[in-house]
Amino acid sequence: MKKIINFIWNNGISDDISIYDISKTRLLNLSVLLCLIFLGPLAVKSYMSEAYVFVVIDLMVLFLFIFSFIYIRITSNYRPASHIMIHSLFFLLLFLIYSGGIGKTGYLWMFIFPMATFFLYDLKRGLVYLAVFTAAAAFLVFAPIRLHGAVEYPVLFRSRLFAAFTVVSVCAALYETVRAKSYKSLKEASIKLEKMAKHDALTGLLNRYGISERFDYEFSRAKRNKTSLTVIICDIDLFKSVNDRYGHDAGDDVLINISQLFEEYKRSQDIIARWGGEEFLLLLPDTDLSGGLVLAEKMRSKISDMIVVYEKNEIKVTMSFGVSELEMSESASIGIRKADRQLLKAKENGKDRVFPEPIEGFLRNA
Ligand code: GH3
Ligand code: MG
Ligand code: MG
Repeated sequence: MKKIINFIWNNGISDDISIYDISKTRLLNLSVLLCLIFLGPLAVKSYMSEAYVFVVIDLMVLFLFIFSFIYIRITSNYRPASHIMIHSLFFLLLFLIYSGGIGKTGYLWMFIFPMATFFLYDLKRGLVYLAVFTAAAAFLVFAPIRLHGAVEYPVLFRSRLFAAFTVVSVCAALYETVRAKSYKSLKEASIKLEKMAKHDALTGLLNRYGISERFDYEFSRAKRNKTSLTVIICDIDLFKSVNDRYGHDAGDDVLINISQLFEEYKRSQDIIARWGGEEFLLLLPDTDLSGGLVLAEKMRSKISDMIVVYEKNEIKVTMSFGVSELEMSESASIGIRKADRQLLKAKENGKDRVFPEPIEGFLRNA
C-alpha cells in the first residue's frame, strides 16, 4: 500500500523541476488518488442503482485523470495535465449540481473548485475560470426553467449555497494573492542572494566563486569545439604603498577604476573576475597565447597611463600580467597555476610588464 501511495505521490517528480512545479504536480497526483478512491466506488454504486449516466460520467472523468497521470509520468510536465483536470472537474461539478448526484448531495463538491483553479492556474486565470464556473452553476441553480433531470433546490438553500461558495472563493483568492506575493519576493531574494554570492561587492565584477562556474563552461566548450582558451592573471604593483600613502578608501577607488577600465577595453566574450585582493583574472575564449598577450599589453599600457584622482591626489599605478593558453589535455586549475607562475616572473623581472614577454616587434605586427 505504501509503495502504491509513493508511486502516485512521486509521479513525474524529477530533480530538475522547481519546488513550485513539484507542489503542483503532487496536487495533480493527489487528485488522481482521490479520484480513484471516490469515483471508482461511486461508479460501481451508480451502476448498482442503474444510474448509467453517472456511471458514464464517472468513468470518463476517471479516464481523463488517469490519462493525465500517465502524461505527467512520461513528460514530467504538469501543465497540459492541469488543463485536462480543471476542465473535467468543471464539467463534472456542473453535472453534479445539475443532477444533484447521488442523494442530492453532489453540489457539495463544488467547494473544491476555487482551491483547484487557483492552485493550478495563477490568480488572474483562476479568477476568470472561477467566474465562468460560478455563472454556469448559478444558471443551473437559479434558472426558472428546469431542464430534464435537473434537481430543484429549495429557494433559501440556493442563496445560502452561493453565499457560502462566494466566501470560500474570496478566501481562496486572498490566500492565492498572499502566496503568489511571498513566492515572488522569495524568488527575487534568492536571485539577489545568488548574484551577491557570485559578485564582488566593491567592483561589481564576478568573484572567484562566480567565475569558477563560467570557467568550467568555457573550458568544456573549448575542449568540445577544439578552440583555444587563454587566461590572464594580473596584480597591481606595490598596492600596499598606495593604501599606506593615500588611505584604504583611495586604494578601493583605484580598484574600482581598474575594473572599469577592464570592462571598457575587454571584448564582449571576455570574462573578468576579481580573483583576490588586488588581483584580477581574465578568461579569453577563442583566444590563443598571442591574442592574450596583445590584450594584456593593451591593458597594461592603459593602466600605466591612467590617473586616479582621489581627494585632490593624483594616483598612478602599474600592473603585472601573467598569460597562459590552456592546454586542453590538462585541467583548468593547472592552466591558472601556469598563468600565476608567469605573473610571478613578471613581478621578479621588474613589474609593470607582461609575461611571457611578447617577442620583439610582435605587438607592432599583431
Ligand atoms: P606587489 O607588487 O608584489 O604585488 O606588492 P603589493 O604591495 O601589491 O602586494 P602585497 O601582497 O604586499 O599587498 C597587497 C595589498 O593589497 C595589501 C592589501 O591591503 C591590499 N588590498 C587587498 N585588497 C584590498 C581592497 O579591497 N582594498 C584596498 N584598499 N586594498 C586592498
Ligand atoms: Mg600587488
Ligand atoms: Mg597580490
